[in-house]
Amino acid sequence: MPELPEVETIKNAVCKAVGYCNIVDVIINQNRFRELIPDDFREKLIQTKITAYRRIAKYMVIDLSNGYSIIWHLGMSGKIKISDSMPAEPEKHDHVLIKTDNGVLIYNDARRFGLLTYCKTEELGKCHLLQGIGPDPFSEDFNAGYLKAKAKSRKTPVKVLLLDQKVVAGIGNIYASEALFDAGISPLRPADKVTPKECGKLVESIRRTLQKAIDAGGSTLKDYRRPDGSEGYFQFRHCVYNKTGQRCPGCRCNLQETGGIQKVIQAGRSSFFCPVKQR
Ligand SMILES: [Zn+2]
Repeated sequence: MPELPEVETIKNAVCKAVGYCNIVDVIINQNRFRELIPDDFREKLIQTKITAYRRIAKYMVIDLSNGYSIIWHLGMSGKIKISDSMPAEPEKHDHVLIKTDNGVLIYNDARRFGLLTYCKTEELGKCHLLQGIGPDPFSEDFNAGYLKAKAKSRKTPVKVLLLDQKVVAGIGNIYASEALFDAGISPLRPADKVTPKECGKLVESIRRTLQKAIDAGGSTLKDYRRPDGSEGYFQFRHCVYNKTGQRCPGCRCNLQETGGIQKVIQAGRSSFFCPVKQR
């Protein structure tokens, strides 16, 4: 599932590839996603100009010249392919094609857990998808004081708190594990036992970890005419995620004694951590 860095990478890739172009046609082969594509989606998009690309949490938002915005979520398996011209023969799962005067955006989603809809730009904050979502990890609102206030009365493990999109937007399972490793905090620690100082450290670790991943994605963007979603993903080297039993980076502990990186299940999701470095 794309997390914040992937969405940021895809957004930048689409912006780079088609830019501030005019939408000339929309073809919807399939409208059943996590939510139905609205019946008047095509009507709202056609003959408008793209004026901005943004990321809000894990959504890509494309502002249009008519006061509306496209809201796009790639779900589990969604990809955006970019083609110079309308493909003669659509590929399997090419569900929506947005034709512009500078290339075609093709939404391909085998499992259809993503969504594609629109909203008035000025009402984005009230849209049910974005309402109540926490601050972006890179915003000023997300800081040590804020995180401490959210963690203060919560006995839930800090890892689970970080996955709560109402607390902070866009952090998923991978980067929650990685950021906690960077901060030296065990994912098992009850949130209310994270000190104010550690909250500050954790905010920095979250930003650093996400930024590294964004940079890794961005470094593959040079000739990015087809952001199929795969390229930016794997350049980022995880420290603990999916590395059960291995040494963590810079680790000098005795693997025989410590067992290396541990895996635990929390709220149905896997967490990975080094029990020596993370307390
Ligand atoms: Zn270690």
